[in-house]
Amino acid sequence: MADVAKLRANLEKRGFLTSYFETARQAADYLTEQIRDTTVGFGGSVTAQQMGLYERLAPSNRALWHWQGGTLEQAVQAEVYITSANGVAETGEIINIDGTGNRVAATLYGRKKVYFVIGVNKIAPDYDAALWRARNIASPKNAQRIGAKTPCAVKGDRCYNCDSPERICRGLVVLWEKMKGVGEMEVVIVNEELGY
Ligand code: SF4
Repeated sequence: MADVAKLRANLEKRGFLTSYFETARQAADYLTEQIRDTTVGFGGSVTAQQMGLYERLAPSNRALWHWQGGTLEQAVQAEVYITSANGVAETGEIINIDGTGNRVAATLYGRKKVYFVIGVNKIAPDYDAALWRARNIASPKNAQRIGAKTPCAVKGDRCYNCDSPERICRGLVVLWEKMKGVGEMEVVIVNEELGY
């Protein structure tokens, strides 16, 4: 069982804002209140999709998502960016693995605010465990989702550290602290299982 209090304390020590909701619905309501009259970009995120965040935010913002007909370039330049994380350590590190780079690029510089929306399934006790989950749970499931021709996509069971041309794991970004070049970074924790 994740220690959410410890996670929040350690994230806040590292300069991240945090919020916590029992349900995805409550978190979506909160984000809909927080994000208005701006441009909001989305990273490829099953969590955001399951929560219907694009549909919730599009009426009151310019919402940009390549899963909804937008371009990657538009989304990464939005004022506000929403993504999830592949693993978050209770010690406070946020881990994302990316293939194209848009999702991690948008979290590193230039946004007024970045939200990481995470279900409790993304939380691991420490850095090593969070990296393990990113590599062996999140990435294989994502490779399977997109139908990549990689060994992990066959069963979605673990990482085989492949050298496939379709390898989706090309860059690893670990946020140790809030980036100086981003206005605010907030981790929105949801007490439900969301995404991979
Ligand atoms: S490195 Fe290859 S085998 Fe491992 S998760 Fe990524 S795509 Fe799958």
